[in-house]
Amino acid sequence: MKDTTARPWKPRTRAVHAGTRRSQYGEVSEALFLTQGFVYDTAEQAEARFIEAGEDEFIYARYGNPTVRMFEDRIAALEGTEDAFATASGMAAVNGALTSMLRAGDHVVSAKALFGSCLYILEEVLARFGVEVTFVDGTDLDQWKAAIRPDTRAVFFESISNPVLEVIDIAAVAKLAHAAGALVIVDNVFATPVFQDTIGLGADVVVYSATKHIDGQGRVLGGVICGSRAFIRDTVEPYLKHTGGSMSPFNAWVLLKSLETVDLRCRAQAATALTLARGLEGASGLRRVVYPGLPSHPQHALAMRQMELGGTVLALEVQGGRDAAFRMLNALEIITISNNLGDAKSIITHPATTTHQRLSDDQRAALGIGDGVLRLSVGLEDADDLLADLRQALAAAR
Ligand SMILES: *Cc1c(COP(=O)(O)O)cnc(C)c1O
Repeated sequence: MKDTTARPWKPRTRAVHAGTRRSQYGEVSEALFLTQGFVYDTAEQAEARFIEAGEDEFIYARYGNPTVRMFEDRIAALEGTEDAFATASGMAAVNGALTSMLRAGDHVVSAKALFGSCLYILEEVLARFGVEVTFVDGTDLDQWKAAIRPDTRAVFFESISNPVLEVIDIAAVAKLAHAAGALVIVDNVFATPVFQDTIGLGADVVVYSATKHIDGQGRVLGGVICGSRAFIRDTVEPYLKHTGGSMSPFNAWVLLKSLETVDLRCRAQAATALTLARGLEGASGLRRVVYPGLPSHPQHALAMRQMELGGTVLALEVQGGRDAAFRMLNALEIITISNNLGDAKSIITHPATTTHQRLSDDQRAALGIGDGVLRLSVGLEDADDLLADLRQALAAAR
């Protein structure tokens, strides 16, 4: 097996080749090692492996598996981190990154605009174990400055928030956090591994739901934590391998194939997202179109400084609140109603009644999630077809 992770390749080449470990059969495509366990030639070898497993030595699939390891090495190479740990879902990654490093008495500062399940971990789970979390408006640097204290162990935020697409200044927040000795953990789902060099901007740990753009074809759940070798192997791995949030080898195999096309897919989806945002902005029946790639976005300049493209998701606010929003959803012919995102199929959701239903009316109002807000994840269909579908549905909503 040949290690290909250390080569000076550009991201697109790394996404296709990095981490490949060929077996003695010399297969072209990555092998699927669908096995829970591994055999030892002798009792002495088993003992030695439990003391310290070498690079190509595995013990049990919850601890590690060759197919999962290929995925970890490939995504680490793409993200520019020393190492990565793959998890059963994006939430196992968010929970693992935070819970593995925190203990009672620690302090965390988090942006308040978060994916619903992330909010549950930061608001409810961590509090139950005695970790204090201060929530800030992630776009307001003064709030970060006031909240970060000498005992702050970590800051957490989504680089672009779900669903209203606020953009956080990663370099500025990282500078404040690092001055206090805090670790910067970024949930980078919306920026994807393609559009943004999150580590280069100052993040220490980057977390993905691989369920989203990395699979990008609606098949498997997965997650990954990318970071320094010390953080991944000394802090994250012991926690996850003993608590059971590891990735299945089958899912890792699917996601390895997905990484080969993630760059092409994300760029095509972002190009269509920009076409749709431009085509819909100012349309009658729409109160606003929120897309980081549009000059009308409040943080357009920051978004374009941090990211190559504006992303694959837009938020639309329909006039007429929930009723009009529902009429629009029900009139769509190509775009399907679902709460996933990053998929090859365009997907739309009404956050106030689905993904963000758990929040109080006040919390939703504070996050800009009005009853007329829709989140559109742009897929790989023809941009003209999608625009026509959105326009006819908008007309039907009035
Ligand atoms: C979907 C999502 C998650 C959770 O990922 P799963 O794979 O569904 O567990 C976490 N954070 C963000 C920003 C997401 O969009």
